[in-house]
Amino acid sequence: MNKGRLIVISGFSGAGKGTVVKGLVSKYGYSLSVSATTREPREGEVDGREYYFKTVSEFKSLIDYNGFIEWAQYVDNFYGTPRKFVEDEIAAGRDVILEIEVQGAMNIKKQYPDAVLIFICTKDAATLSERLHGRGTESEENIRKRIARAAEEAEFIKEYEYVAVNDDLDTCIDTVNSIIISKHCRLEEQKAFAEEMVKGLRDFC
Ligand code: 5GP
Repeated sequence: MNKGRLIVISGFSGAGKGTVVKGLVSKYGYSLSVSATTREPREGEVDGREYYFKTVSEFKSLIDYNGFIEWAQYVDNFYGTPRKFVEDEIAAGRDVILEIEVQGAMNIKKQYPDAVLIFICTKDAATLSERLHGRGTESEENIRKRIARAAEEAEFIKEYEYVAVNDDLDTCIDTVNSIIISKHCRLEEQKAFAEEMVKGLRDFC
């Protein structure tokens, strides 16, 4: 059985990557890693569904116990990907989506060279600013920090294998799914299949 792949999805805060990821899970059935964070839950967020909400000291002890495959500080909070779920899913042959920021993505790229790295963008900077303001969940100060952080993150886009523009949501979801499928169709994953086919056909000769 082929191992599952890690699908790393990053993008500017406000680019709609969370909605794209939800679409990938509901439309195509991907497995999604739920991260731990020290940030406060937003209205409607449920512990264990959007995030595992932790105190700073709980988060630090998870780091000490090697409980994360990666973790990073983003703006004022810590975020980390729990190790066990991800390792179990990959071993069971399932692709797992990690919706994480760029430092975490670079960390994953080093540890798992066959991870698929996809960056979700708005079509331009003005659209990003409009979306962050329109969301109405963050303070003006936090929005300013998120835009400054987006400028830093943009420097890392070139480290990703794919970029998908989230202009039309359904198109973006389908594009990302196609990227993942095409990755599985690449010859390195199909070598065993090809060898089996040669053997099978020879038996008919
Ligand atoms: P938010 O506070 O808007 O939910 O998330 C802020 C940023 O943290 C987003 O870019 C999100 O993708 C990222 N993030 C969420 N979970 C993780 C994680 O486990 N690790 C890392 N490195 N980043 C994460």
